Amino acid sequence: MLFNNIVYGPIHSRRLGTSLGMELMPLEHKLCTFNCVYCECGWNTPVSHPKLPTREEVKTALEAKLRQMVNGQCVDGQCLDVITFSGNGEPTLHPEFLGIIEDTCALRDQYCPNAKVSVLSNSTQLGRADVVRALRRCDNRILKLDAATDEMMRRIDLPVNDRLTVEQIMEWLEQFEGDFTLQTCFLRGEHDGKRIDNTTPDELDAWYKAVDRLHPKQIMMYVIDRKTPEENLSKISREEMESIAAPLQAKGYDVIISA
Ligand code: SF4
Repeated sequence: MLFNNIVYGPIHSRRLGTSLGMELMPLEHKLCTFNCVYCECGWNTPVSHPKLPTREEVKTALEAKLRQMVNGQCVDGQCLDVITFSGNGEPTLHPEFLGIIEDTCALRDQYCPNAKVSVLSNSTQLGRADVVRALRRCDNRILKLDAATDEMMRRIDLPVNDRLTVEQIMEWLEQFEGDFTLQTCFLRGEHDGKRIDNTTPDELDAWYKAVDRLHPKQIMMYVIDRKTPEENLSKISREEMESIAAPLQAKGYDVIISA
């Protein structure tokens, strides 16, 4: 499933509410530093010169949509909960990401002041100062950590950089001092002859420790919901997700379960 416009929606997101989606990656194919086995956009397609929208194109498209919404569909941003950057890959890969976030916050203030600006990111670009600055400008940073062991993170997320470690991601996430939402997709299955399961006692133990170290203000736990590129995956039940969340909720964490 690919998004074919720079601005799409508004759509109802099971995790975010009424959301206007922002696409900074190519409209024809996915571009990401991960290649998650469960990615709703399918597998990465290697392309030598990916075509990204310019900062100006993004600004123009967003302003046109917000103008249209304010004039026709909502008043003072009441019908829009959030402007969300996600889409066909990793939005922070856009070289003008910081400028685009600045434009978006300015347009939001002008047209829909009640809406939040949120970014869903796979956390792999947090070593870049401009990306961290941009994310700090947003209202919500929703940052991925699918597993807290290198082996399982690599099996689930298939990072393009095969030297990426969980410890590196953790250090980057610590920059936000807990002011972010941690997102984790729970799943079981098999890929390339390797078992995938981030719900085993050992994996959960490592993940709980990571949560305690990062102390995120919110945790989003979700399950696969649509067709996945690796077909040999199974969905975790709502009951099991609730039992995974329970020890964190008992400690006072704000946990959202999408299952
Ligand atoms: S990080 Fe997101 S966009 Fe990238 S492969 Fe994983 S699910 Fe897909």
